[in-house]
Amino acid sequence: MARRSLPIVGNVNPRSVWESSTKVLTRDLRRPVPRARASEAAADAAAWFDELTSAVAESVPPERPIACKPGCAHCCSLKVVVAAPEAIRLADWLRATLDDGALADLRARVEATDDRTRGMTVAQRMQARVPCPLLAKDRCIAHEARPLSCRGANSYDAEACRQSLEHPERRSEFRCYGPQVAIGDALRAGVSTAAAANQLDGTMLELISALRTLLSRPPAANEWGAGRRDALTVARDKEFAELVKAGKGSPR
Ligand code: SF4
Repeated sequence: MARRSLPIVGNVNPRSVWESSTKVLTRDLRRPVPRARASEAAADAAAWFDELTSAVAESVPPERPIACKPGCAHCCSLKVVVAAPEAIRLADWLRATLDDGALADLRARVEATDDRTRGMTVAQRMQARVPCPLLAKDRCIAHEARPLSCRGANSYDAEACRQSLEHPERRSEFRCYGPQVAIGDALRAGVSTAAAANQLDGTMLELISALRTLLSRPPAANEWGAGRRDALTVARDKEFAELVKAGKGSPR
């Protein structure tokens, strides 16, 4: 489906991306927000990500080729933090794509993973090395609908990723194409800020806990869109909230 471009005034940088996405999505996320409209907002943000990262890579190319490729999933054991519409879109996409048996299996994997990882910090998740339940044979089954944080994650060196996953205590040097991460973070912040501007819960959520709620209780999506603060409370990421309060960036 053809989507709108994001109108950016001046240069494409994290601030202009955040401001512009906040402005557009604040109009789109007027309450009440039915589930489908929340999904659309997240799908727009994902499309903007693809468009903007391509444009930025033309003007400021990566210093070397990005190493990420299908079947490389070292970063898929890290904590992923999302704005609510991203989780709503992902749950919708999974329900629309998987058959009943596959969806039941996935729900069981999501619950088991959430039981193991609920409340963990970024550092604890690295130590625990629990793979995302959306991984199958080291590929994301929801690649098309993956969150902005996953879209932004990248690396110049897959071996460095493997080392940091297998030996997090060594704190290996890790280099990536920064603009890709920054655009993903800026768009995710835009989705969240636009939600908050409409008195919706804009708190960042931990992906697995949010998916568990939305897959086991689909009405939670419309409750969130109606402005209920308790709809996705269990998935709120406390570490992210603390980092934001301290003026620090994304934990991913
Ligand atoms: S949603 Fe997909 S890309 Fe993101 S961590 Fe999970 S498997 Fe990896």
